[in-house]
Amino acid sequence: MQITAIEVEPLDLKLQTALTVAYGSYPELNYALLKIITDDGLLGLGEASPDPEVTGETQAAVIAALQQAATFLVGSNPFDVEHIINQCLDHIPAFPAAIAAIDMALYDLVGQLLEVPVYQLLGGKSHSGIGLYPVIPMDDPQTMAALSRKFVDLGIDTLKIKLGSDPDADLLRLKNIQDAVGNSVNLRLDINQGWKDSRTAIEIIKQLSNFNIEWIEQPVGDSDLDELAAVTSAVDIPIMADESCHGPEDVLAIACCEAADLINIKLMKCGGLYQATKTLAVAEAAGLPCILGSMGESSIGSAAGLHFMTAKPGIIACELIGPLFIDNDPATGYQVDMATFQAIPSKQPGLGVQLI
Ligand code: MG
Repeated sequence: MQITAIEVEPLDLKLQTALTVAYGSYPELNYALLKIITDDGLLGLGEASPDPEVTGETQAAVIAALQQAATFLVGSNPFDVEHIINQCLDHIPAFPAAIAAIDMALYDLVGQLLEVPVYQLLGGKSHSGIGLYPVIPMDDPQTMAALSRKFVDLGIDTLKIKLGSDPDADLLRLKNIQDAVGNSVNLRLDINQGWKDSRTAIEIIKQLSNFNIEWIEQPVGDSDLDELAAVTSAVDIPIMADESCHGPEDVLAIACCEAADLINIKLMKCGGLYQATKTLAVAEAAGLPCILGSMGESSIGSAAGLHFMTAKPGIIACELIGPLFIDNDPATGYQVDMATFQAIPSKQPGLGVQLI
């Protein structure tokens, strides 16, 4: 099997509600769709979901990088995943979301040719249903509390809360949410680097002992691991690295200076399934539990993440909820049982998604 052509197009995903986090507000996600075509007539699908604040890429940049990658992709055998990903790391190293799109399209093709779902290529099935949890975007305290209550009324017992503005305003948001949902709901906080330094972060975290907080994600900026380490060593609530941790080298650095207690792996930060496997391996060796995060990908990128999660028992939580909040998803095949809020891995060959 040989790759004969690639096609790249913008993928502008309209959200039902704007996603607001510490560093910006997104009514629409500007991503890219990749199609890899082979001489067997197979079509492999990939999604690049860049974010200048997280992956360092824009939509235009990933489209250009993918077009550049055509020079070494065309003529390649999709089974040569390691060789192709190494070529990507040589030629387009600053474009992890573009590399992730290539990587998932390769796995989609290999799975289709072998007639197995992608999770069978990654280690086989370890999970059958994957519990998800919703994200509460940063907003005024009343709005966040009302949305939290709405999800809890649906039977959901875990919420991810986006914070990271002024500490007093964040505390007020948390108090309103707790008043609305009670103390038995697990809260996973994501600060998105919003607390300006370790001293500020430590001060506010020490006031959170009466809340049911499972972990706090990226309280301080990603440019200084010592700052993150200072928070991690000073507080009892576990601290997770997200923006500070892209691939395997970052996990190693975090482990060496004990900068975090947990790692958030995202396909778009590390460059796809192959690189995520390496990232997870380093984290496991270092004794750092991992979750699988998302950039709010459509059904294509979310399906790739779900195959990874399905195959890897070491990942303790999964945030692949993008398709639930997108009005114009380009594909079908990513299935969520809304009664249990669980994602169900597809048994179809490859990623198991089809363009609409
Ligand atoms: Mg995060």
